[in-house]
Amino acid sequence: MSVHVPINNIIPFSLVDGPGSRCSIFVQGCNIHCAYCHNPETQRLCVGCGACVRSCPAGALKMVCGAVEWDQDACVKCDTCIHVCPNHSSPRILYLDAEQVFERVKSYMPFIRGVTCSGGECMLYPEFLSELFGLCRGVGLGCLIDSNGTVDFAGHQDLLALSDGVMLDLKCWDDSWFVSLTGTGGKAVRKNLAFLAEQDKLAELRVIVTVGRNDPEVAVRGAAGVLGEKVASTRLRLMRFRHFGVRGEMEGAPSPTDERMGAMEELARSLGFGTVVVS
Ligand code: SF4
Ligand code: SF4
Repeated sequence: MSVHVPINNIIPFSLVDGPGSRCSIFVQGCNIHCAYCHNPETQRLCVGCGACVRSCPAGALKMVCGAVEWDQDACVKCDTCIHVCPNHSSPRILYLDAEQVFERVKSYMPFIRGVTCSGGECMLYPEFLSELFGLCRGVGLGCLIDSNGTVDFAGHQDLLALSDGVMLDLKCWDDSWFVSLTGTGGKAVRKNLAFLAEQDKLAELRVIVTVGRNDPEVAVRGAAGVLGEKVASTRLRLMRFRHFGVRGEMEGAPSPTDERMGAMEELARSLGFGTVVVS
């Protein structure tokens, strides 16, 4: 029987989640908690506290047997529920299996080139990804995984074979920075970086640049060392921290300057990265 997974959102057409126009699928739930997360409402599963039900101005939420039920037709998309949720969750979740998601994806053809699964952390649901990617490949769609890199890809070779590659976040290099920013160490991410490059499945390496909350220069140098000669064929995206959507300690935190981003780009090019994108 197909596994049903919590889906936070499906964006029919996205130009920022891989090459070409893509359907982006965001699962709910993450295994780490980044201080700079832009969609913190995707981090955790609902615990049924009811706070959002009481705050919904449209009566689109109700408690049924201890769980929140969301009325999509009544919802006015005001986002009040995700702002009042004390749990970094959302009541606007649909539990769908791969077939049901694929039905939606199919309705966006022929205007998309592929699908990208993101989150939350989509690698928490590898069976779902495998089934969905199998269906998508069957109709000629490309399949990308956007991941925080904390789940061991070496244990999911079948899924990787169905995927065009992984857009891998490298949030920090040094473990002390990693723990401070995400709540966990970076050993698994560094291992995945080496493994995905060796398998030619590293679609994009993503490094966030913050002011004083991570070590992007060290991360770019460290990644170049791990990649070796593959650095020339690696696409690196340097992402400027922006506070939009961020809650908690980094809400309102400054973005790095143009000069800093320019210096980061120069460093990356000097280390031999074949493609460097600053966003
Ligand atoms: S976005 Fe949330 S709070 Fe607003 S109407 Fe929809 S369910 Fe209610
Ligand atoms: S979505 Fe958040 S506020 Fe609403 S019931 Fe679940 S945990 Fe509580």
